[in-house]
Amino acid sequence: MTETDSHDIRDGETRIDAPMREDAAVQFIGVIRTPYTSRDMCPRQGKLDGPDCRLELRPEWEPGLEGITKFDHLDVLYWLHQSRRDLVTQNPRSDGRITGTFALRSPVRPNPIGLSLVRLIRREGNVLIVKGLDCLDGTPLIDIKPERCAYTPQAPHKDADDV
Ligand code: SAM
Repeated sequence: MTETDSHDIRDGETRIDAPMREDAAVQFIGVIRTPYTSRDMCPRQGKLDGPDCRLELRPEWEPGLEGITKFDHLDVLYWLHQSRRDLVTQNPRSDGRITGTFALRSPVRPNPIGLSLVRLIRREGNVLIVKGLDCLDGTPLIDIKPERCAYTPQAPHKDADDV
């Protein structure tokens, strides 16, 4: 057991000895600051009228925020670093109703990536102030993208498919 395995298995849940082959290296671009210091404090999903949270980018990634204030809403991806990663079925409400990991938005998954739609409040240099997050203070930040519906490509594409 690692410290990220501290979440106990509930009745009916199953784990596998997940082979760690094919691991990609994810580069954290910064850290997320929220008012939530324990998992119990976190909402199950963030709310767009929730508290202000901060996406603090490493200084070298600050130029990557150029143009971002054109968007009201962003998708934020983050690494739910305190999650165990070996459950293939889960008993989310501890009531015996067993559900597959991929049919849940539980933080417990083989690659614990969280995704939230947030409202952009303002930019302060390398920091974005947003509302809509549900993660612990100190959660590593993976990526930020304009919300899909608001995004239109800035140059014609070779293919009809958007990127
Ligand atoms: N909004 C994301 C999604 O849908 O992909 C995450 C949803 S997940 C249900 C949110 C929960 O994950 C929180 O309520 C909290 O219990 C847990 N959590 C938050 N931050 C975490 C972290 N850094 N490591 C592990 N668990 C975390």
